Amino acid sequence: MTAELLDGKSIAEDIRSKVKIEVENRVKKGKSVPGLATLLVGENPASQVYVRSKHKACQEAGILSFGYDLPATASQEDVENLVKQLNQDPKIHGILVQLPLPSGLDEERVLNMISIEKDVDGFHPLNIGRLAQKGRDPLFIPCTPAGTMYLIEKVMPKIEGKNAVVLGRSNIVGMPVALLLVRANATVTICHSRTKNLPEVIRQADILVAAVGKPEMVKGDWVKPGAVVIDVGINRVDDPTQKRGYRLVGDVDFDEVKEVAGVITPVPGGVGPMTIAMLLTNTLRAAELADK
Ligand code: NDP
Repeated sequence: MTAELLDGKSIAEDIRSKVKIEVENRVKKGKSVPGLATLLVGENPASQVYVRSKHKACQEAGILSFGYDLPATASQEDVENLVKQLNQDPKIHGILVQLPLPSGLDEERVLNMISIEKDVDGFHPLNIGRLAQKGRDPLFIPCTPAGTMYLIEKVMPKIEGKNAVVLGRSNIVGMPVALLLVRANATVTICHSRTKNLPEVIRQADILVAAVGKPEMVKGDWVKPGAVVIDVGINRVDDPTQKRGYRLVGDVDFDEVKEVAGVITPVPGGVGPMTIAMLLTNTLRAAELADK
């Protein structure tokens, strides 16, 4: 069996075109242009690439973007003062602090300071707390988990009652994905580095989300035939045949798993583009919240 390929790139492009139209419509009505501020501390090359691609995506969607870069030597106070300033700035509807922050900075305190109405990354403890509580709704859902759910819902209209396994329990991916699946009434198992009999647990999954950061870890015989497999992982592996010397692979052994799964996302071109599409959606939503 060969799995259906779930093309995150084209789904993300659709979402981005819709955001663009909505931005144009609101501006025509005299409403504000949505604005996103990114805050990058230090010179982590991967973070610089991510931030650049977020600005480019904003530009294409007609969203204003403002880049704030602080040196790696910035103090906790410098970062907090900047967040306070951005909270007050009416041109800025969304604030994104690019993680990880350099060591020595208190990430939790910084995220806590972002106004929840501008928390387009959805990492404010209040937004995450609401995500975890029954009957409460966060203002924003973190972008990668939201993109992951969007893809699952696209191919599985009824998630209720399905067995879902989330491999990974990080604050930014695994845990919020698991919370979203619970909210969609799946029966959720969260696996991590201390999980025993991992392949056996994963084989129960109708929906598998892999967010572990280990190249091609999930093998074909770990997967239930017909499962929906969402591969969040982005890992560099050496590849001398490539000009840049490496290629990107997911946490799932794509060649093996595509022969067993019902649906699979590629890496690259799966969850990655969805993350940016969700950031634009959240920034538009933040501008709409500010209208009220
Ligand atoms: P983290 O390193 O923060 O978390 C990894 C999780 O995997 C942890 O919960 C860890 O368990 C678990 N884990 C590690 N080793 C094993 C193992 N051998 N068996 C079982 N579980 C294990 O990673 P992130 O969540 O930040 O990222 C995961 C992947 O997703 C990475 O490849 C990252 O690049 C990618 N990513 C992709 C994004 C996108 O836009 N597509 C966005 C963000 C991340 P424990 O908690 O016990 O340590």
